[in-house]
Amino acid sequence: MPQPTASPRVLVIGAGIGGLAAAVALQRVGIEAEVYERAEVLRPAGSGLSVMTNAVLALRALDIDLGLEKRGQTVLRSDLLDARGRLLRSLPFRAACERIGAPSVALYRGDLQAALLDAWGEGRVTLGAVATGYEVTGTGVRVRFQDGREAVGDVLVGADGINSVVRSARAGTEAPRDSEFICWLSVTPFRHPKLTTGFNAHYWGRGRRFGLHDVGHGRAYWWGTQNMSADSARHWEGDKEQIVRAFAGWADEVQEVIRATRAEDILGVPARDRPFLEQWGDGPVTLLGDAAHPMMPSLAQGGSSAIEDAVVLAQCLKAYPEPVAALRAYESLRRERTYRLVKASRQFTTVEQLDNPVLCALRNLYLRFAPQSVLMRPFEDALKPHLAPLETSS
Ligand SMILES: Cc1cc2nc3c(=O)[nH]c(=O)nc-3n(C[C@H](O)[C@H](O)[C@H](O)COP(=O)(O)OP(=O)(O)OC[C@H]3O[C@@H](n4cnc5c(N)ncnc54)[C@H](O)[C@@H]3O)c2cc1C
Repeated sequence: MPQPTASPRVLVIGAGIGGLAAAVALQRVGIEAEVYERAEVLRPAGSGLSVMTNAVLALRALDIDLGLEKRGQTVLRSDLLDARGRLLRSLPFRAACERIGAPSVALYRGDLQAALLDAWGEGRVTLGAVATGYEVTGTGVRVRFQDGREAVGDVLVGADGINSVVRSARAGTEAPRDSEFICWLSVTPFRHPKLTTGFNAHYWGRGRRFGLHDVGHGRAYWWGTQNMSADSARHWEGDKEQIVRAFAGWADEVQEVIRATRAEDILGVPARDRPFLEQWGDGPVTLLGDAAHPMMPSLAQGGSSAIEDAVVLAQCLKAYPEPVAALRAYESLRRERTYRLVKASRQFTTVEQLDNPVLCALRNLYLRFAPQSVLMRPFEDALKPHLAPLETSS
């Protein structure tokens, strides 16, 4: 029988949203994690994102307040528009968040990273540590890094993103699933009469969509999608004029925010996920965030569900005296929830990226006239956190 560990030594690979959230959540239950990141410097990640109600509530379950509402902007409006900016539907998203119990917040990714680092303690990530593999030992796990270093712990958490080496060690090195469209993203200083406080809008076109979000402090977060071959999406070379052309004739605010953005501040990311992985771990090893369940961005839940994972992982490691049992409990608590998010996000994508004019017209009619409860159901499901029904310490 393995001996129960008072406070397991937890190694986390990856200092993205998931890895840093895990460090913060574990610290809150009395476990100090070691976080290893391949980057030499923790640069503020470009662009923006929405931290959804479920993530805010998950953090609150451990009494963690990252002050996101001050760092970014609470979502107050959620509009669906056509490409020219005509309103299709205003969704009662804010009311749903209030009913469920916390706001959703749109913010600059760098501000979320700063919030997590402030909460955990600046300067604690081991940088320039490229994990290449691991071995399970008699007493725990040993991680190998590219430069010959090793780290030994009781538990290994792979929070190393969609191309996770921790995942590939047990699940194989299959490439992610490409979806034949690109996502362009940026955050830029921007003022426009349409961009009112808490404004969030999705503009629906043919094979293209656009999102515009107020992230506070005089800045807008925008993203645009365009159908293209997986190869072109993977090798996009930063041509801003291509984006200007893709959204020519769209609503004024869409065209203006693209023009206002410096070319070097625009990221191009191919849309990718993976088929759902049923078994995330073995023995003292598990996965978290995109390493476990990468999903399409449609429900804005990739990072938010990584935060939920982090909280549940901490709750389980606190509640179970035996770390391996804690990891299996964590995985079984997260499996169904994240499976549904991956599936729903992929289903949305198909409708979002439609190109056929007749199907697009039908889709827009649906967005305009479908019962509100039907339109809101997948969002409301996603916004309710699924946490561990366990005792935790603060
Ligand atoms: C267009 C778009 C819009 C999105 N919008 C939202 C949104 O609004 N809300 C939301 O919640 N989510 C959103 N997401 C999803 C979100 O960005 C991801 O789900 C989230 O960043 C995943 O966090 P992670 O920590 O699991 O992985 P990552 O952010 O990928 O972090 C992994 C970290 O591990 C490091 N790493 C990788 N390999 C190694 C290694 N071998 N050794 C050491 N370190 C390593 C990486 O450098 C990185 O720092 C969006 C995604 C896209 C593409």
